[in-house]
Amino acid sequence: MSKTSKKENKKEKRVKKVRQLPQSPKGMHDILPEDQPLWERIRNKARSIAGLYSFSRIDTHIVEKAEIFERGVGQESEIVQKQMFYIKTPARSAGGKDDDKLALQPEGTASVMRSYFENGLSRMGQPVKLYYEAPMFRYEQPQQARFRQFYQFGIEILGGESEPAYDAQAMLIPYKILESLKVKNITIKINSIGCHNCRGNFLKKLQQYYKRHQKDTCKDCEKRISSNPMRLLDCKNEKCQPIKAGAPVILDFLCSQCKAHFKKVMEFADELKLPYVIDHLLVRGLDYYNRTVFEIFSEKAPFALVAGGRYDYLSEMLGQGRIAAVGSSIGLNRVAGVLKEEVKGVLRSQPKVFLIHLGDAAKKKGLSLIQKLVEEGISIGESFGRESLKSQLRMADKEKALLALIIGQKEVFEESVIVRDMTSGVQETIPLTKIIEDIKKRT
Ligand SMILES: [Zn+2]
Ligand SMILES: [Zn+2]
Repeated sequence: MSKTSKKENKKEKRVKKVRQLPQSPKGMHDILPEDQPLWERIRNKARSIAGLYSFSRIDTHIVEKAEIFERGVGQESEIVQKQMFYIKTPARSAGGKDDDKLALQPEGTASVMRSYFENGLSRMGQPVKLYYEAPMFRYEQPQQARFRQFYQFGIEILGGESEPAYDAQAMLIPYKILESLKVKNITIKINSIGCHNCRGNFLKKLQQYYKRHQKDTCKDCEKRISSNPMRLLDCKNEKCQPIKAGAPVILDFLCSQCKAHFKKVMEFADELKLPYVIDHLLVRGLDYYNRTVFEIFSEKAPFALVAGGRYDYLSEMLGQGRIAAVGSSIGLNRVAGVLKEEVKGVLRSQPKVFLIHLGDAAKKKGLSLIQKLVEEGISIGESFGRESLKSQLRMADKEKALLALIIGQKEVFEESVIVRDMTSGVQETIPLTKIIEDIKKRT
């Protein structure tokens, strides 16, 4: 190949590249129209059940000062170490003040806590019960049920006492939401990770134990022994499973207050008939948790649909006085994933009626007929770019409309509409004045 043709070849390649559609960023997915009815159903159930338990909605901004998460979620946590989406603002690019160190929220709790103090919710009657639904962002390896943008519905109970009845409620509400959505065979795994008084003793024992088995653990765990020993129990690596199985059990180390708290939580969970099991290997990846932690599973999913726990220390980590707090969040993508197979096709939103026009005068008439139907709450589709009867009927079929309303020149002149039953193909001419009544009868 000559030099010039090589050059041209390169140029051509570049042009091709420019023309290609930029794809979604890795690990991010659109929620398409066909999935929206299912998502709406999940969101509506969640909102209405949270509302019944007197939770109010809060929307925090999805961008926060990164400090909120660095302090709240914890410097040593996987989220802050590896998964934060930092935002490059103009000010930061130009030299960067710390004030401009912003991040997309990787979880919802720390932001809600910030807002609680910043906006005076801490001075209202306590506890304050809030719920949110928002996208979260974590830069992690996308895999089944793990996305870089995912949606959570969360509840938070802030203020008041460290009351075990609220731990039970933080489990109950997501459980009830899943149950009402007909998620099958739900199990709640629950554990207590103690408090600052008792957790230290446990961690010391855990570190000693892992140091003895250091040569048999995975590389990550080797680091965790000193940096984040709690997470040792969370390791999914095959190699570490036998070591985990023999590790000291935190419940044996709880102080008397933590023990009493955990006992009460279980008593209330029994009272509410929550299907829970104790899992002493359950720890959560965020620093702010204390005492109760839990995750909710269904038989269909190998991953948790809900995660939550108590976080009485978070307010202090954000530089405020200590307040009791407990909450949980539902992974909406995961719930939608579990339910998707079951409701396939059932929940499609579709126009009941489809308008077909033949000619310009009919198009004009059609526009005002659509208006009339919409005002009556009847959903109607149309295809103005298509002119032939055949292609418009095909479209009505594709949209699975029950009725087609056909307007031709004759109908414009006579102020009438042909109503075609799309299943039987039977047609009938109806005067325009009676059309609403007729459609309502038929649908
Ligand atoms: Zn304790
Ligand atoms: Zn490991």
